[in-house]
Amino acid sequence: MPESLGFAPADLLVGASLFLDFDGTLVDIVDRPDAVVVDAPLAMLMEELADRLQGRLAIISGRPRAEIDALFGHCAFAVGGSHGLELRWPSGRSSSPAPPSDLPRLTARLREAAMRYPGTLVEEKPFGVALHYRAAPEYEGACRHLAQALVEESGLSLQPGKMVFELRMRGADKGAALAALLDEPPMRGTRPVFVGDDPTDEDAFRTAAARGGAGILVGPPRPTAALYRLPDVAAVRAWLEAALAA
Ligand SMILES: [Mg+2]
Repeated sequence: MPESLGFAPADLLVGASLFLDFDGTLVDIVDRPDAVVVDAPLAMLMEELADRLQGRLAIISGRPRAEIDALFGHCAFAVGGSHGLELRWPSGRSSSPAPPSDLPRLTARLREAAMRYPGTLVEEKPFGVALHYRAAPEYEGACRHLAQALVEESGLSLQPGKMVFELRMRGADKGAALAALLDEPPMRGTRPVFVGDDPTDEDAFRTAAARGGAGILVGPPRPTAALYRLPDVAAVRAWLEAALAA
């Protein structure tokens, strides 16, 4: 039962590989996704983790890989961007698929329609497009209807998130990204730990458990494949600091 999930032990990361979601896990979610910043303590924490884990550290996010790179500046960690479609291994090797050919047309349709819903925001991504309604929650139903209609006429899949509907390219999820990163050195053969808050993070919780590791759910209790839970971003950062000292 979700209520029984406890705090992760501080020594969980000893010898492990650490995979972190970004929004809602390392930083609080804000109204506009482009308004998020990586503060100095977080940048330092990531550097210390990369050092302590000897490179067995990755961020796996719905954000494009280039955005994660830009937010952190020099990244001493691996990245799974765009829900795992774009990968960069600790060695520096990277891979990414060709974007969907009808994406410009779908984005134009979404922008045109979203103008009727003041406060909603269209976010272009390399492999999809997102419609945010955090600043205009009264349009949730209209946004859902629109996103579903566009999904039905395209080959993309619908990804509901926190106050956002995203049309995204099929072919990867956060669990697949974790597995692909874990299959190469220096992560190969280690126990994966994944920390995240989103419904899409459940794929990674399941993969982490299947590979002998564990998931840590961030946020209130819910049915989950995670083994542990932390209540919020502040608790994640405090736990990571404690894990560094273990
Ligand atoms: Mg998240």
